[in-house]
Amino acid sequence: MRVCLDPGHGGYDPGAVGPGGLKEKDVTLAVALRAGFYLQESGAEVFFTRASDRVSWLPEVGRDLAARVEIANRGQADLYLSIHCNSAPTPEAGGIETYSFRQMGKAAEVARLIQAELVRELGLRDRGVKTAGFYVLRHTAMPAVLTELAFISNPREEKLLSDPGFQERAAKALARAVAVHYGLVLAPAPAAPRLVIDNRAVTGVPLQVIEGRTWVELRPFVAASGGTVEWNQETKTIVVYLKP
Ligand SMILES: [Zn+2]
Repeated sequence: MRVCLDPGHGGYDPGAVGPGGLKEKDVTLAVALRAGFYLQESGAEVFFTRASDRVSWLPEVGRDLAARVEIANRGQADLYLSIHCNSAPTPEAGGIETYSFRQMGKAAEVARLIQAELVRELGLRDRGVKTAGFYVLRHTAMPAVLTELAFISNPREEKLLSDPGFQERAAKALARAVAVHYGLVLAPAPAAPRLVIDNRAVTGVPLQVIEGRTWVELRPFVAASGGTVEWNQETKTIVVYLKP
């Protein structure tokens, strides 16, 4: 199965900002990347609407959402999962909620699984599964789910959201829910460093960082980028074609 993970906000748009200054866009990215590697390792194909703070669309909210939907549709994902943090004017508001466009169907099923796994794993208040006409839920051509991990406006939950251990648990819960729904067995995430090429999660490319320099095995790296490598034995020349 192929999943499009959409870390909410990014680039020019920080999303909601917590009382301690934590930005929603940083949390959603960290959780999406972590979830992506669990799923990739479990046999899913994973791509992201963004895999860093760099966004590929123009800085307008209208364009932003359309671009995310277009990436999911063009990539022919079987599932679109948008990851957000909640926010409210009162600092006491807290908990987890998950949305689908309709109350029935595949998206609603996945939303229920995601909500249950998140609540079980993170132990925050269960605000339930809801329906909403969010742009990204309405216009995606595949089952689409949007989850609100916790409230960034709640000082206690903001602290949790900033914690890498909490992010890892949230990611694993999301990945487990998706894996269960699509009949995959959740595998452990690959050891760091992980690799994303053109917003696609990639595994099976041996790489390591030594003293600040990245070493990758050329042939699998180029193959994962869609290119090819040839070796000229006579002249001992490596010839790389980055485009097929
Ligand atoms: Zn958001």
